[in-house]
Amino acid sequence: MKAIQDLINISRYYGSNNCFVIAGGGNTSYKNEEKIWVKASGSSLATITEDGFAVIDRSKLNRMSEKVYSSDATEREEQVKNDLADATLTKGKRPSVETSMHNTIGYAYVVHLHPTLVNGLMCAEDAEKELFRLFGEKYVYVPYTDPGYVLFKKVEEKINAYKLKYKEEPQLIWLQNHGIFVAANTTAEIKQIYTDIIETLEKAVTIQLPSGDRPYCSCTELILPGLRMMLSKFENPESEKNESD
Ligand SMILES: [Zn+2]
Repeated sequence: MKAIQDLINISRYYGSNNCFVIAGGGNTSYKNEEKIWVKASGSSLATITEDGFAVIDRSKLNRMSEKVYSSDATEREEQVKNDLADATLTKGKRPSVETSMHNTIGYAYVVHLHPTLVNGLMCAEDAEKELFRLFGEKYVYVPYTDPGYVLFKKVEEKINAYKLKYKEEPQLIWLQNHGIFVAANTTAEIKQIYTDIIETLEKAVTIQLPSGDRPYCSCTELILPGLRMMLSKFENPESEKNESD
């Protein structure tokens, strides 16, 4: 199926780029009306094949968002885990814990990553204010919440508020101290959105980290032999003594 091949390609594309993925983090998905393909736990984005995705029944996932779970966090996460396993059609594959978030986003493809530049912003003290300054207001921003069902419900609530305000589905969801979800109906559009985000962030970073050879002044070549001589004296106590004499 072409849609799944596109999902595999975009997963590998971002999975093999260190700027986008920290230690294999992040996950991807594709959905149609009935089913959603989400990266299974244990598979790596960089080398993923169709086998690396869990397939889940969306009608069961939708029911999970309506359900009332235990107020005890440990008990609740256990119940959610069991329901997620029950909704999984590819038995034995454990879908990502972020599956419900993927399901609730109203586009065919979702790529969730923790890029260094994005997290530089999302972990900043004034993340929300800076986000607004750089990207305006057409996105969903979710203040830090522990991962799990509660985070999913908060994301869902924010998405609904966005839909009410803009009469369309959000394509960008920024999670404080965590990362970003980008959604679109084609993988080409996802790439375009990520490229635009990274470009904007790169421009915003005023202090660049050094990379490659730095240009240096020609006088360095005159000073260097002197420096070398002085350093060698420290290593050689004998010549140090002569000097002080
Ligand atoms: Zn994540």
